[in-house]
Amino acid sequence: MDVACYSAPGAGEALEKSTISRRDLRPNDCLIKIRWAGICHSDIHTVNGDWPHDNFPMTPGHEIIGEVTEVGTEVQNFRPGDVVGIGCLVDSCLDCDACREGDENYCESGSTGTYNAPDRLDGTITQGGYSTHIVCREEFLVRIPKAFADLESDAAAAATPLLCAGITTYSPLKHWDVGEGSRVAVVGMGGLGHVAVKLAAAMGADVTVLSHSKSKEADGLAFGASRYVATKEEGWHKPFRASFDLIINTVSAPLDPAPFISTLARGGTMVMLGLPPEKMQISAGALIGKRRSVAGSAIGGIRETQEMIDFCAAHGITAEAEVIPAEEINTAYQRVLDSDVRYRFVIDVNTL
Ligand code: NAP
Ligand code: ZN
Repeated sequence: MDVACYSAPGAGEALEKSTISRRDLRPNDCLIKIRWAGICHSDIHTVNGDWPHDNFPMTPGHEIIGEVTEVGTEVQNFRPGDVVGIGCLVDSCLDCDACREGDENYCESGSTGTYNAPDRLDGTITQGGYSTHIVCREEFLVRIPKAFADLESDAAAAATPLLCAGITTYSPLKHWDVGEGSRVAVVGMGGLGHVAVKLAAAMGADVTVLSHSKSKEADGLAFGASRYVATKEEGWHKPFRASFDLIINTVSAPLDPAPFISTLARGGTMVMLGLPPEKMQISAGALIGKRRSVAGSAIGGIRETQEMIDFCAAHGITAEAEVIPAEEINTAYQRVLDSDVRYRFVIDVNTL
C-alpha cells in the first residue's frame, strides 16, 4: 500500500512530503498506524550524509508509537487495537548467539535498521517512521505500557523517544551495573543525554551533567542530577579527577576525550554513544594508570527495550517532547544541530 511520508530526496537536502510503499503483510507481520515519531540526531546524520549511503530518497524515523490495525495470519502476540512501539530495529536473524541472548542489535549477520537498511527477504530498503503506517514483524514490536498507551495523550508523545533515546542509554547503564551510589556523568544533555540523566537517577546513581554550556542547568538538576558542569569553562575537569565510575558520552560532535578520561575513577569506563564521523585520539597512558576503559554501545535488544519502557512507566519517566507538525521537520533538524532542542522533537503524524 502507498502511504504518505516525509523523505529526504538526497544527502543534505530538505525533507519533503512524499509517498512510500509498504509491503503486503507476511504471515508474521503487523500493520501499524503511526501516531508519533521522534526525531533522533541519527536521522539527521543519515540525511546529511555524515554516514555515507546511496539509499535516497529516504524516510527516516526510528522512534515510533502507534496502533496495530492488521495482523498477518501467523501473528501470535498482537491484535488490532494494541498500542505498540518500534525502535531502531525491524529484523535480525533471531538465530545467532547474539540474537538468542536478546542482543538482536548485535546480530552476527547484521540487524535490519528501521530505515536505510536492506530487507532480509526481498532486499528493498526499509523506510522509517516519518510516515503514516509501517509494517513490522511481530518479534520487533514493543508493547507500550498502560501509562503511555492513550495514543492521544501527551504521555504517549513523550514516551516515543524512549524507543531510541531511552534504550540507547538504558542498555549501557544496565551493562555497567549502575545502581545505588554509582557515580555517573552524562556528557551532552540533548535527546539521549536528558533521558540518561533521568534513568541513571532513577537507578539510584549520583549523576553529574557535563554540558558544554550552563544554559540547561536548572533542567539538569530537575531531571535528577546532583550537579551540572559547563565543559566550555577552562579547567572544568580538575575538581573531578578520578571521580566517575561511568561516563555516558552522547555528544554528536567530535570532542577531545582527554579531560573526560581524566575524570574516570579507577576501573571506570567512558561509553561512547554519540557517533560523529571523525576519529578520536586516545592516549594509552591515560587509560593504563587507572585501568580505565573507553567502550561503545549500540541501542539495545528487543527484550531489553521492553524492560526499559516498563521501567520508565513504573518510574514516571518520559522524554521532554516538543511536538511539531510534519511541515516543521526541516526547522526542527536545524534546531537540533544548533543544540536548540528541549529535549526531543516528536512529529504529530496526524499532520502528515
Ligand atoms: P542531540 O539531541 O543533538 O544531543 C547531542 C548533544 O551533544 C547536544 O544537546 C549537546 O549537548 C552536545 N553537543 C552537540 N554539539 C556539540 C559540540 N559541538 N560540542 C559539544 N557538545 C555538543 O542528539 P541525540 O539525538 O541525543 O544523539 C546524540 C548522538 O548519539 C548522535 O551522534 C546520534 O547519532 C548518536 N546515537 C547513537 C546511538 C547508539 O546506538 N549508540 C543511538 C542514538 C543516537 P550540550 O548542549 O548539553 O553540550
Ligand atoms: Zn536514534
